[in-house]
Amino acid sequence: MKSHVLGYPRVGAKRELKKAIENYWGKNSNQEALELIAAEIRKQNWKKQQNAGIDFIPVNDFSFYDQVLDTTLLVGAVPERYQALLNNQNLSELDVYFAMARGLQTEDYDITAMEMTKWFDTNYHYIVPEFVKNQTFKNLSKKVINEYKEAVALGINAKPVLISPASYLLLGKEKEAGFDKLDLLDGLLEVYKQVIAELENLGATYIQIDEPFLALNLKDKEQFTIQKTHQFLNKEFPNLKFITATYFDDVLDNLELINQLPGAVLHIDLTRGDETQLLKILQSEFKNQSKVLSLGLVDGRNIWKNDFTKSIAQINKAKEVLGTDRVWVASSSSLLHVPVDLESEEKLDDELKSWLSFAAQKLDEVVLLKTLSTHPTHADLLAFENNKKDIQERRASGRIHKFHVKNRESFIEDKDLHRNSAFATRKIIQTKALQLPLYPTTTIGSFPQTPEVRSWRAKHKKGLISNQEYNTLLEQETKESIEFQEQVGLDVLVHGEFERNDMVEYFGEQLEGFAFTQFGWVQSYGTRCVKPPIIFGDVERLNPMTLEWTVFAQSLTNKYVKGMLTGPVTILQWSFVRDDQPRKTTCNQIALAIRDEVVDLEKAGIKIIQIDEPAIREGLPLKQAQWNDYLTWAVNAFKLSASGVNDETQIHTHMCYSEFNDIIKAIADMDADVITIECSRSQMELLDVFAEFNYPNEIGPGVYDIHSPRVPSTQEVVDLIEKAEKYIPKENIWINPDCGLKTRKWPETKKALEVMVNATQQIREKV
Ligand code: GLN
Ligand code: ZN
Repeated sequence: MKSHVLGYPRVGAKRELKKAIENYWGKNSNQEALELIAAEIRKQNWKKQQNAGIDFIPVNDFSFYDQVLDTTLLVGAVPERYQALLNNQNLSELDVYFAMARGLQTEDYDITAMEMTKWFDTNYHYIVPEFVKNQTFKNLSKKVINEYKEAVALGINAKPVLISPASYLLLGKEKEAGFDKLDLLDGLLEVYKQVIAELENLGATYIQIDEPFLALNLKDKEQFTIQKTHQFLNKEFPNLKFITATYFDDVLDNLELINQLPGAVLHIDLTRGDETQLLKILQSEFKNQSKVLSLGLVDGRNIWKNDFTKSIAQINKAKEVLGTDRVWVASSSSLLHVPVDLESEEKLDDELKSWLSFAAQKLDEVVLLKTLSTHPTHADLLAFENNKKDIQERRASGRIHKFHVKNRESFIEDKDLHRNSAFATRKIIQTKALQLPLYPTTTIGSFPQTPEVRSWRAKHKKGLISNQEYNTLLEQETKESIEFQEQVGLDVLVHGEFERNDMVEYFGEQLEGFAFTQFGWVQSYGTRCVKPPIIFGDVERLNPMTLEWTVFAQSLTNKYVKGMLTGPVTILQWSFVRDDQPRKTTCNQIALAIRDEVVDLEKAGIKIIQIDEPAIREGLPLKQAQWNDYLTWAVNAFKLSASGVNDETQIHTHMCYSEFNDIIKAIADMDADVITIECSRSQMELLDVFAEFNYPNEIGPGVYDIHSPRVPSTQEVVDLIEKAEKYIPKENIWINPDCGLKTRKWPETKKALEVMVNATQQIREKV
């Protein structure tokens, strides 16, 4: 029996890599300094795994930006617009790599970045490969070779990790018509052949080929592409042992294909998908083959301590059928998606810590599961006893279980999910009550979080300024924002969200059942990391969370100020969620807390309340067959949060992505009175889906892009509004930017909103 992990976080325990890369970008250091820091992180990661006792240690899981972009450089699939950079003597390969990730704007160049999208259903984003009709491949980057040599020189039992040629193609996008990217396979295989031959010459034995698409529903040609890939590799390299690594869902839909694939090891994720996966594989043709089954038992995507009793039962089942030699123990996926080290946390209490496990701790878990299943020492057995105790204590903890919260959740009724009247009736009531002009103007919630605002928060957190001082500063800022909004002539105002660090953290910090880490960073894209809260227990709102700020802002003006909340699905989606009850249950608990806040806002006289749900779409399961189930509970949770108010109260929601095609019915089912969406970059074309569906409620299609400091011209905005009118009736149109303005600066924000209001005025005059 062997142990391995599929990958390890590369950002460093204190985000050393992030800082080093940003210094390089900012020209505060040079490439040599950056490479040194990178090599040190790799070394520490490898040594950490070696010391933990991991048998096969991943190499090439390191990346300066993204492992898919690394692969693009490995196979030389550099899009045309960067080719000139490759010949520029002043730019290194690394500079070209960063240009592909982030675009390049200098005196000589103005090149856009490659597209970025979510890595399956994680919050990690990869750089999408671009393919053209006459796409050729050639080995360009030596990264995997160099890192392999580096690891071997350090005495590491290195297992190179490569994204499979098939999955690489499937991750990419055809940039012109008239060809199928899967037809590019042959050329790609030749490059892999060259690279793998080099690795074999250097002494590699096991090579991990990541084939995540095997956990998805596949079309025939996709299946065939995967099959051809593995046949090719195993035929070309009969002496190498290939590990086919799948993750993020079960592989049952492709089991027949999998059993036909050659290869030495199959890795499966046992933390997700169908719980019968292991049994079904063990009962299948797999048992008659000689392949090893690598059991992904230790969760690479969540932070809970492994339940050894459960895992060992699974290992034993596999051992019974396959024999000890054909069973390995592993992390479910790369550990990239969890924070680095629990030991760094000084503020989490011991009880909570005893329930958790970050990447470093997960290494020990993988190794312990192996030794406990083979030749346990006395210390191992003791560790097992401690594990049982921790798991048991967590199950029974009074901090987790609150009877009244569970009770309330279990008594949610259908009537709690609906407003009193249907939208058509509400619209009449709200029009009369609110008396808003045609094309009401508003913003999405946040105003610029200036360096001053951030510094106040930092000082307040460190205790350098008192609560009172902090509040006075924020009050002043809020007051100025209200004055500005009145002056520029917006119809529905916001308080500006100056008191919030982050739209999830702000709520989590005030809710029971949440914990926060100091260093629990996880890479989201490039050097951007997020620190998701941990939802460990039943969620409860003890006190109002936003009431004071909203009521304060409303007291400053005669116009309406929108209450501003984050929705239950988004709070769930951007947190580490407890694994001891269905996600749906946790989501409902959050929804009830938000519902109470909504009702309190209404009682305090707030007439318009926005519940942001930018993360609904990213919660979609990997397999379409499960979409309906997810969308039903997610939409219901939103409705639960929104439906405690009277018909007069107007509920808004906001989403910022541009793919509504396959979820438009669910969006309509949410039944928000108004939805604001990102729209300007698609030139309103995204409204097509809403029009086709006859979406009945009001819509605020974003009329300018907030991701850049550029101020639009009045004519541009007028044109966009006129375009929107082709899709939606004018009585249903709101005018707003694409998203919140917290990342912008005040000067451009003021100008852009002036333009927006002027454009609206022009449109109104034409009516
Ligand atoms: N209300 C939030 C803001 O304006 C919404 C942010 C978001 O959609 N991601 O910042
Ligand atoms: Zn947004």
